[in-house]
Amino acid sequence: MRVSVPPGKLRRRGRRRGLLAAAAVLACAPGAWAQRSNLKPPWNMYSPETDVRVGKQNADILEKRLPLCNAPQVDAYLTKLGLKLVAKLPTRGAQYPWEFHCVNSKEINAFALPGGFVFVNRGAIEVSDNEAQLAAVMAHELSHVALRHGTAQASKAQMLQGAAGIFGGLFGGSTGGALLTQGVALGAGGVLLHYSRSDETQADVLGTQALYDTGYDPRAMAQFFEKLEAETQGKNPPQFLSDHPNPGNRVERVDEEIDKLGGVPSNAKRDSAEFEAIKREVMALPVVKMPEPQADASEHALANATQALIQELAKTNPGLKVTREPGRVELNGQPGLSTYLSNDSPAGGQETDWLVTVLQPQGLLSFLCVAPQAAYPEYENTFTVVLDSVRLPR
Ligand SMILES: [Zn+2]
Repeated sequence: MRVSVPPGKLRRRGRRRGLLAAAAVLACAPGAWAQRSNLKPPWNMYSPETDVRVGKQNADILEKRLPLCNAPQVDAYLTKLGLKLVAKLPTRGAQYPWEFHCVNSKEINAFALPGGFVFVNRGAIEVSDNEAQLAAVMAHELSHVALRHGTAQASKAQMLQGAAGIFGGLFGGSTGGALLTQGVALGAGGVLLHYSRSDETQADVLGTQALYDTGYDPRAMAQFFEKLEAETQGKNPPQFLSDHPNPGNRVERVDEEIDKLGGVPSNAKRDSAEFEAIKREVMALPVVKMPEPQADASEHALANATQALIQELAKTNPGLKVTREPGRVELNGQPGLSTYLSNDSPAGGQETDWLVTVLQPQGLLSFLCVAPQAAYPEYENTFTVVLDSVRLPR
């Protein structure tokens, strides 16, 4: 049996299909074959709720210890910019509180604790040439939060240690963790803010996607890091670069992602009058020195004994240099000092020496953790876990 269709009807249907097909082709035209990288967060034994709890504990400590800018307009601006980026980041259903603080420190640094507690130094705002570069460093930090890299690093360290409860102090228990808690607060030896090279690549890529999705020039991601490397040439690397090790092919990987996204949009945003106004306000803020913790007699004794030890070590190691001045930490609940040194390695090249000292009734107790400089970031978490397992007599 034949079904006859009136010719007009057939033609109409055909035309409509043709139009739909044309529309589909148009929609896919830019970057038709490319697909953005799909990033899988690393293995993590903690829940997103733990991220928030641990992040909040440490943020509370930092808010008391760090000199904040106390500039409501700057905080509001950082919050607005941060939330714009956050809206484009996948958090896999997790709800984070997202808080943004400006820190009155000239050091070029920005960091985000797990759970989304973000601290941006005035130095990072001042060094940014435009809003896109500031957005880039923030997008990078926020990507570490979204991918939960801090607690993923803690998970790895805990597996290496092979015992439960080592992060008790950090993660709500009662044992251990004091060194870590203090370490995060003081930026020395904190496991939550030291990322691996693969974490860095992930944060670059996801951050580049967030920049693109918010309409910023995604090239700003690589630009910020290149600028930072150039700024610090010949000087001690800032904290930022030791927390965020260079994965090696940063610019290439960012460019590759931009290609996958379909290239730099012609109307990509680079700057805003608002950013320039905020930058001027930040530059006019009074310079505040980090508040010196009140030192008592025993702290002086610890500082002097540590200094004497370093001088003693330098006698037999002429290449020994202090790369980060002693900072306060706690070791098993007792006050200690954390100092970073560099030295000529007997294996050739340079080594990084992490010295942790505690004053005991018998004298100065010291721990020296040594690793080749290039590989040091990979060792530090393990060192932290080892030191955190130290039990001192009461
Ligand atoms: Zn990073």
